Amino acid sequence: MDARPRASSPDDLAQRVRGIEPSGIRQIFELMAAMRDPINLSIGQPHYDPPPELVEAACRAMRAGKNKYTMTQGLAELNAHVLDAVERRHGRRPETCQLTTGVSGGLLLTFLCLLDPDDEILIPDPGFMTYRHLASLCSGKVRFYDIYPRSPGGRFVIDLAEIERLCSPRTKIVFVNSPSNPTGAVHTRAEIEGLCRLANRCGAYVVSDEIYDSFCYVDDYASPVTYADRCIQLGGFGKSFGIPGWRLGYATGPAAVLDAMKTLQQFSYVCAPAPFQYALLDVLDKVDLRPRFAEYRHKRDLIAGSLHPAYELPAPEGSFYAFPRLPRNARGGHAGGGEFLQAALQKKLLVVPGKSFSARDTHFRLSFAAADETLRKGLAVLAELAEHFG
Ligand code: PMP
Repeated sequence: MDARPRASSPDDLAQRVRGIEPSGIRQIFELMAAMRDPINLSIGQPHYDPPPELVEAACRAMRAGKNKYTMTQGLAELNAHVLDAVERRHGRRPETCQLTTGVSGGLLLTFLCLLDPDDEILIPDPGFMTYRHLASLCSGKVRFYDIYPRSPGGRFVIDLAEIERLCSPRTKIVFVNSPSNPTGAVHTRAEIEGLCRLANRCGAYVVSDEIYDSFCYVDDYASPVTYADRCIQLGGFGKSFGIPGWRLGYATGPAAVLDAMKTLQQFSYVCAPAPFQYALLDVLDKVDLRPRFAEYRHKRDLIAGSLHPAYELPAPEGSFYAFPRLPRNARGGHAGGGEFLQAALQKKLLVVPGKSFSARDTHFRLSFAAADETLRKGLAVLAELAEHFG
């Protein structure tokens, strides 16, 4: 008899995970690890450290023994704080709230609780890649709506006629992400209200990922919370406070769904990290993050001003991403994503290919969550690349 232990093989994997590919962004992390002094504009997290008071509060919480589980839904005071803030900003108080392990935790719980096999979910293209993978994992049928600009350099938009065409009695979720990763779009009130009206008409939930809602460079920010009959709103503290590794997110919405999400959280993540919940509660009303957001508005101005007109891009309206079109080449077409990325890499510039977020390979994402000096270096390389391809 062969005494050797049997080796594992990819064939052992459950069907549900076989189609899932590693994120393009992870591959960039690996490239970066092998590079000296890269100009890294691929990063999806703020470049700043959390407020020192918050770090101190976390240390205090741990020393004070706040290291046990919290209630599944998180500290009651934090839930109330979120609901108060949402009501103040959007004029409607969601029925209930729960803290999640980052927005990623909230996304998975939402899809698990709402999607039956073959239920349809409408997702923006381009959009954050996690949506389509998690929706498929939960047996949802993904249908994309196209938010690319309708004219060169135009805004990324929600085309309500397309949403109307796609909405049907099989549509369970219409998904929105504003401010958007990767496009930097903040969808207008008319777009959000119109989309919600259509979702209401076909009986679908609107699931709204608002993780970047603090990074908003337009005056009017509209959330589906205001307009959707049935809305699950997902938000978080990771990006705004500079603590993405602390894994603190939240979900708000009707108790009928959130109660099931809470039960699933009990059986999976259990609760968001306890000492960090206490720390957040301690400083929420004491720290002012507005200077940080003003700094990012300045970075937005810097990149939008410098890239235009060599690159087609609308000025980002929110988040910390821009999604320019690949430059035109001498033949009157556009550079291919692969050749552009390679040329950028040779100059040590890391950006993310548009095809990581889309069925199309016509754009690239750059993050302006970086020091001004890094941004200036990256912009200089991008100017050279536009010349090179033009
Ligand atoms: N949604 C979007 C649009 C994101 O960009 C990210 C993270 N990059 C997430 C959700 C996940 O956030 P978290 O780290 O809170 O899980």
